[in-house]
Amino acid sequence: MFVARRLSMSSLQYAIQKASEIPYRRGFQRHYCIILDKRGRKLAESANSYSKTSPKMLRAARKVGNDQAIYWHAECKAIYSLRNPEKAYKLIVVRIDAKNQPVNSAPCIICSTLMKSIGIKVVEHTV
Ligand SMILES: [Zn+2]
Repeated sequence: MFVARRLSMSSLQYAIQKASEIPYRRGFQRHYCIILDKRGRKLAESANSYSKTSPKMLRAARKVGNDQAIYWHAECKAIYSLRNPEKAYKLIVVRIDAKNQPVNSAPCIICSTLMKSIGIKVVEHTV
């Protein structure tokens, strides 16, 4: 039954499901991002991370004058894991609260800038 439901899930539902699989910790946000091509095929996906720092993340942050962001944002991590960034068309990013309910996940300036630089056309986020 779980598998059957999952196959018919929308991309948004899938992202929320994946975010809810991240163990909840007080004070830590749970984001999940997926990137799709024009036909809706999933090209990349990622959660955010509070344990993994990345020089790529910091480089993206510095482009917009931020020297603090060293932990992966879900969107940046998904973008950097793309094998063919030119095929990326749509990005979906979600955030859920302690009760697994969707809450605002509007991308920050760092992630937005990186999205624009690779030519992502459509961004959807939870509100
Ligand atoms: Zn961000």
